[in-house]
Amino acid sequence: MKLTKVGKIVLVLAIIICIIGVIMYIRFDESKDIHNIISNEFYDIKIDFEKTKIKDLNNKIEEYIKNKENEFIAIVDESGKVQTSKYNLIINTETKEFKNLVSTHVLTFYFTGGAHYVREDITHVYNVDEKKYINFSGLLIKDSEDLLKNVVLKYLYKYGEEKGILFNDWQVEDGTKITDKNYENFYLDNNGLNILFPPYQVASWADGEVKITIPFEELENILKPEYMEKTIDTSVDINKPTERNLDDFKNKKLIAFTFDDGPNTSTTSRLLDGIKEYNAKVTFFVLGSRVNSHQEVLKRAYEEGNQIGSHTYNHLNLLLLSDSKIIEEISKTDEAIKNIIGTSPELLRPPYGNVNDNIKQLSSKYIINWNVDTEDWKLKDRNLIKENILKNARDGAIILLHDIYTESVEGALLAMEELEKEGYAFVTISEMAKLKGVTLDYNKTYFNF
Ligand code: ZN
Repeated sequence: MKLTKVGKIVLVLAIIICIIGVIMYIRFDESKDIHNIISNEFYDIKIDFEKTKIKDLNNKIEEYIKNKENEFIAIVDESGKVQTSKYNLIINTETKEFKNLVSTHVLTFYFTGGAHYVREDITHVYNVDEKKYINFSGLLIKDSEDLLKNVVLKYLYKYGEEKGILFNDWQVEDGTKITDKNYENFYLDNNGLNILFPPYQVASWADGEVKITIPFEELENILKPEYMEKTIDTSVDINKPTERNLDDFKNKKLIAFTFDDGPNTSTTSRLLDGIKEYNAKVTFFVLGSRVNSHQEVLKRAYEEGNQIGSHTYNHLNLLLLSDSKIIEEISKTDEAIKNIIGTSPELLRPPYGNVNDNIKQLSSKYIINWNVDTEDWKLKDRNLIKENILKNARDGAIILLHDIYTESVEGALLAMEELEKEGYAFVTISEMAKLKGVTLDYNKTYFNF
């Protein structure tokens, strides 16, 4: 078939329109994730919502987030802005997919001057095939409640034993009754049925959340058969990174670039690609709540010789938490990271840089803050971010950035290009400490080297 000249032009135009369409779609899609940081002298708001593949679910969650934000700001306004500690709103989401189910857990914390953070848990579970939300009872074979209750108690007491929790019988009795309300927060994965009981449902507030995983072997005649089968095991081998020969950096000025609040598959991957050009290794302070949904890129970052540190699970102000909650924030993150890279982090960057001696003691990690704050989350412009880095760059600096934003990643790469010409090398925190002859100490807070 031969195309006429007009035909050819139409065809080329059609192709161009398609390409533009795809680009726009990808952009639009990306922009729907919400990574919001608002910080002023009265409050910090941090929203971290990753959209799911279900539009209706996304709308539902976005509306919830908007309402929470408005409520929170109204409370701040009402307070007359007289506060003992900065008010704080944190919303994180975590989505799990298993077979035809998409479960999104929305976890909200707010601190508005009470004795502690207020916590709200909501999980929406969507059945993709049936195109509708399901409740917990939708998973169960009819009349299997008694069977299930026994299994739940077995795993609950096992959990209590491991964590040293003494349950109250009346609280357990009420909190484990098989109702959709009690079992609002659940998801399935290859390990079985996971049930989260928020603080105070089955244990005291101080004991924190209780999460049990019931393996499929125990769920025979309880779960509907379509939810029973395991999917393929995706666990893969981890390649231990090779250590760099630090002699190469002996006569260089050194900078440690650090990236908080990730990982985030698209932007973190771009960063990993980009830093290769400058022989750079960087340090990631990741959020436990995000690592499960960005496993591959975290594994890649580690295997390529970058350092993985902890930024806690939910990004709460640790100064406002009880000891047991501080430990929970840190140990849950350790576990999540260890599941993916086979080792727990040695470094901790406390959210907002907030730390005291008690937190240091409880964490047993090296506390790494920063001496160059790029304010990248506020600037949102690669050139301004680059300029900010260049202006403040000096030997031994620790630079704070966030790899969840495209502009931050690009700004960092632009800065590396310039700094390399000025004789800088880019190293991880551990490499920096070694090169500077510093033996890290749990009792200190490091801002630079
Ligand atoms: Zn952070």
